[in-house]
Amino acid sequence: MTAPAPFEVYAIRYATVARHGAENFIGGDPHETASRMDYFVWLARRGGECYVIDTGFNEAAARRRKREFLRSPVEGLAALGVNASAVENVILTHLHYDHVGNFDLFPGARFHLQDRELAYATGRHMGTQFFSAAYEVDEVTAMVRHVYAGRVRFHEGDAELAPGLSVHLIGGHTLGLQAVRLWTRIGWLVLASDASHYTANRELASPFPVVANVTAMVDGWRRLEELASAPRFIVPGHDPAVMQQYRAPIAALEGVAVRLDAEPELERLAPARAGSRSPTEARDGRAR
Ligand SMILES: [Zn+2]
Repeated sequence: MTAPAPFEVYAIRYATVARHGAENFIGGDPHETASRMDYFVWLARRGGECYVIDTGFNEAAARRRKREFLRSPVEGLAALGVNASAVENVILTHLHYDHVGNFDLFPGARFHLQDRELAYATGRHMGTQFFSAAYEVDEVTAMVRHVYAGRVRFHEGDAELAPGLSVHLIGGHTLGLQAVRLWTRIGWLVLASDASHYTANRELASPFPVVANVTAMVDGWRRLEELASAPRFIVPGHDPAVMQQYRAPIAALEGVAVRLDAEPELERLAPARAGSRSPTEARDGRAR
């Protein structure tokens, strides 16, 4: 069997927020360090094929939730030559506000979503604030309208969307969270999204505290490791290390986007895993 053609994969950073490490790990940060949380959308493309993974939040949501908004995810995509209004396929890893705002800016897209995610986001657990806090009811209801308009492609468990591109039900963080597996020039790359907010959550087996099912989250880390060609090809969902360990595709995109289908430079340590202050934080300070 011949291998599929490889995808190019990018992370676009669109927002950030300062966090205490202890907020990112149940039971506190094993390193007792300050940290930050970055917000990303991802792009996979191959020739004329283009998949956007998650759509991020907008400036109004950033203000409401006190996040620092760096740029619209749509502007980030445009900088990579992608016109959001022409995108046909958007994969939503889950329906939390930081992954599905802006979907009105993709008028031509079908949305790939797990059955269990919409069931969870519209079901009994949303009566409990602990589970509903990261959802926006207006976005969830808008997604229900897209279901009625025939724009949602549901998946149950694992599904191949194209040769070399599949989605995988992980659950854990939300009941219907899915990760994305891509064939690339370096092998199988896995976009973990919030199956692993930080690499340290997975490596130290220390779960992120926003969680629907802790056992599924823990099992999910092992599943990500099975899906990737190597553990270092698992891309965490919110880890500032991503912007350090991968390179911008062109100088003009420094600090905006990085290319993920490349060997990560693991020695360039993330703030969550190194000392309290890092080159990234210093750089962020200048950018602000
Ligand atoms: Zn998230």
